[in-house]
Amino acid sequence: MHELYVAQCILDSAEKALPDDVAGSSVREIVVLVGRLDAIVNDSLTFLFDVIKAERGFPSAALRIDVEPVSCRCLRCTEQFAVPDVDCFFCPECNSRDVKVLTGRGIRIMEMTVEDGVEV
Ligand SMILES: [Zn+2]
Repeated sequence: MHELYVAQCILDSAEKALPDDVAGSSVREIVVLVGRLDAIVNDSLTFLFDVIKAERGFPSAALRIDVEPVSCRCLRCTEQFAVPDVDCFFCPECNSRDVKVLTGRGIRIMEMTVEDGVEV
């Protein structure tokens, strides 16, 4: 299942990002930015994250998911544009389909909040 793999990756990354003197059990919130192109079902990801977080050492961490919109650059005319419909990539200036995706892909941790309110 795609979302289970993503939940595991988030917890792995969280563990690596955490300073040595901060325990995973003190993490209260993990904020992730998920690209819209990754087609994550937020409810499934949150559910699976909650299922595995304790055994991965983050029993009190809540997951917050922010979705990153998709933007592209046209390789023909260099126009940069947001993509409102992810099924349909073309440049609004010249109608070229030769575009490069700039944002909206990948999953990364934006911030973690630990017990005393410190963000890491
Ligand atoms: Zn163009």
